[in-house]
Amino acid sequence: MDIPKIYNPKDVEPKWAAWWEEEHLFRTEPNPAKTPFTIMMPPPNVTGVLHMGHALQDTVQDTLIRYHRMRGFEAHWQAGTDHAGIATQTVVERELAERKKPGRVELGREKFLEEVWKVVERNKKVIAEQKRSLGDSPDWSRERFTFDEGLSRAVREVFVRLYEEGLIYRGPYIVNWSPALQSAISDEEVDHREIEGSLWYVRYPGVDGGPGVVVATTRPETMLGDTAVMVHPEDERYRDLVGGEVELPLTGRRIPVIADEYVDREFGTGAVKVTPAHDPNDFEIGKRHDLPMPVILDEHARVKPPAPEAYVGLDRFEAREAVLRDLEKLGLIEKVEKHVHAVGYCQRSKVPIEPYLSTQWFLRMKPLAEPALEAVRDGRIRFVPRRWEKVYFQWVENIRDWCISRQLWWGHRIPAWYCDECGGVTVAREDPPACARCGSEKIRQDEDVLDTWFSSWLWPFSTLGWPEKTPELEYYHPTDVLVSGYDIIFFWIARMIIADLRFTGEVPFRTVYITGMIRDKYGRWMSKSLGNGIDPLEMIDQYGADAVRYSLIVLNTEGQDIRLDPSRFEMGRNFANKLWNSFRLLAGPAEEVLAAQLRKAVEIEEKVGPSPDPVAAMLDWKGSAEPHPGRTALRLLERAGERALEDRWIRSRFLLTAREVGRRFEQYRLSDALLAIYRFTWNEFCDWYLEAIKPRIAPGADEVQAGATLRFALEMMEGIVRLLHPFMPFITEELYHRLGEIEGRIVEESRPDSVALAEYPTGRGEKVDRRALEEFGYLQELVGAVRNVRGELLVPPSAEATLAIREDEPRTELIRREWKTVKRLAHL
Ligand SMILES: [Zn+2]
Repeated sequence: MDIPKIYNPKDVEPKWAAWWEEEHLFRTEPNPAKTPFTIMMPPPNVTGVLHMGHALQDTVQDTLIRYHRMRGFEAHWQAGTDHAGIATQTVVERELAERKKPGRVELGREKFLEEVWKVVERNKKVIAEQKRSLGDSPDWSRERFTFDEGLSRAVREVFVRLYEEGLIYRGPYIVNWSPALQSAISDEEVDHREIEGSLWYVRYPGVDGGPGVVVATTRPETMLGDTAVMVHPEDERYRDLVGGEVELPLTGRRIPVIADEYVDREFGTGAVKVTPAHDPNDFEIGKRHDLPMPVILDEHARVKPPAPEAYVGLDRFEAREAVLRDLEKLGLIEKVEKHVHAVGYCQRSKVPIEPYLSTQWFLRMKPLAEPALEAVRDGRIRFVPRRWEKVYFQWVENIRDWCISRQLWWGHRIPAWYCDECGGVTVAREDPPACARCGSEKIRQDEDVLDTWFSSWLWPFSTLGWPEKTPELEYYHPTDVLVSGYDIIFFWIARMIIADLRFTGEVPFRTVYITGMIRDKYGRWMSKSLGNGIDPLEMIDQYGADAVRYSLIVLNTEGQDIRLDPSRFEMGRNFANKLWNSFRLLAGPAEEVLAAQLRKAVEIEEKVGPSPDPVAAMLDWKGSAEPHPGRTALRLLERAGERALEDRWIRSRFLLTAREVGRRFEQYRLSDALLAIYRFTWNEFCDWYLEAIKPRIAPGADEVQAGATLRFALEMMEGIVRLLHPFMPFITEELYHRLGEIEGRIVEESRPDSVALAEYPTGRGEKVDRRALEEFGYLQELVGAVRNVRGELLVPPSAEATLAIREDEPRTELIRREWKTVKRLAHL
């Protein structure tokens, strides 16, 4: 066997990724004979490439999936992508502009959507390739897309049902309007930033020529849409004004002075302006007091009528300048104060959002939320780490109506048709030919599409064929664990729980595993503008996917954020190299010694011939058509060799490690599981065990002993390879194959072709040799003590030292028995 001196992931990883694919190793089918273990992959946006956050979450999921697959579960990892409404539409528009192609509006809806589909198909392939290079093992044949036919049917079904139940309604509402995207965006898509602005004190004169009232505002331009001034009902200062009117400067309008307990008397002058169409709180007050709600900004946030002619067409920031200038002229600005306050910014386009009154579709969430709270309260769903449950409760308990319409083209179009004749609305599962109310054919479909999350919230059951009662839905659902970052607990996790309970009556998943988020080494978010992002594909190219996976798992502890620096991937690479070198150390002599033994064993068998003794009987290898020549004789040879202390010790350490790994998996402490394997492999197997057996396998050593030792050591090596496979799938697949190819190392006929399908070591069903642990532990201490003394006294490693043992030392017998090992390791 040709074993390269240096382990090069590039020679290994693509080969096995392709082989897994060709062999369809990760296909899954509903199989009543096995227990399912299912994970829904959070569908990445089709907009582009994977980032480190994906790499972390994918590694966690893949590790769980591979572990359960090896443990005998029908492990299904549901892959797919999200059509990502706003994000994708923005990307395609930008691409068209860069390529100097006609833009969205020029192309028209149909042609533009064709362009989007092209980009989507291209990106889906790229994303799947990237995931393959990381070693992901989902069932690609079951890949889904939030905008494919089946999922679109589920979306439509859900919309119609909720509409029929009266939970979906259309109405005027203050939404977060992004003038850049020209669409409503959800509360969660708004970043609130503290900015240093001003507080203007503006006088609204009395109608009788009196002093009127001074209001304080951070947004003077919105006064053009004011419909009241409001004070606290118990505020003595304004008692006489309530019920009267004041002049609204610049507009020639008069507005009422109203009283409402909402007002904070301490803020400003205790009197505030009310702009119901451009402020969410004012909107509520407007409804309470039945105020008019004039909209004075258009979708680009430019002033429009009924605002006075003089300002129409001005951008909102220009309008502010103009309004302030004119108020100044009239002497109505009493004072200006510096004022720090929060302003909402559109996460995607980075412009300040504009609270804006528009007609949108809404989903009433309150009536849906209670079962979702119950499911977490009673433990049917648990969060790991538990602290995230608090965040979840807080959001779900205060849940608000969800604005589900978006002014976009890319997405599930709202299945509502408006009738030009009678004004009726028809909402239907199939596109209707006529108005449901009057039968007129003059109907138009709503132009808007649904929020992307309106399809992603169905992901755990729509991907399995709902609303049909498919065998997949029956078998894989509810799923086992969802792996996600805490940034989308509201957007996605809570909504999935709500939807699933509503439409399947079951929880979508039993465990929510929240990973930390990736930051740079200074703790900052990775972002394009900071240029501090680390590209997982570059890291895979440089260090190998196994190394990237290793480091991500080790660093992901207890859901803490991860401070990542490319140098952290060296840990993973070093470990892969260590593993490779230990394999080389064993495989070299094994090929010679074991092959020679095999030849000898065949000879022995030929001599023993067909005699009816036990050896001959065992030669008829059970369960195999062809008896393996030499197999039985080899077994007997092996049994003849007595197990040395270090063999019994390493075997027991292995069993204990496997048990610990199993426990850690149950606790979702993957970092601890991997570190247990790492410590066993590096500190115990490589540093102690391989050192201890060196003389037994060196040239000139007893051949029977050497053969038995090598066979046993390779057995241990295969144990490590299996334990490690879920974490580092590529190098372990490579070593597993090489371990199976060593001539003379007889492996079971039932040994699967791929380590991915091999049995995972649990360390159960075999006894731990406590005495071996204790005795070898003592030798380790002894050798360690000698090494320390040598270090302190500066005795060079090349110099032999002498060990004197006191007569009353109770371990004298053990030291004598293991003298060869002690002498060598401590260099005595
Ligand atoms: Zn009609």
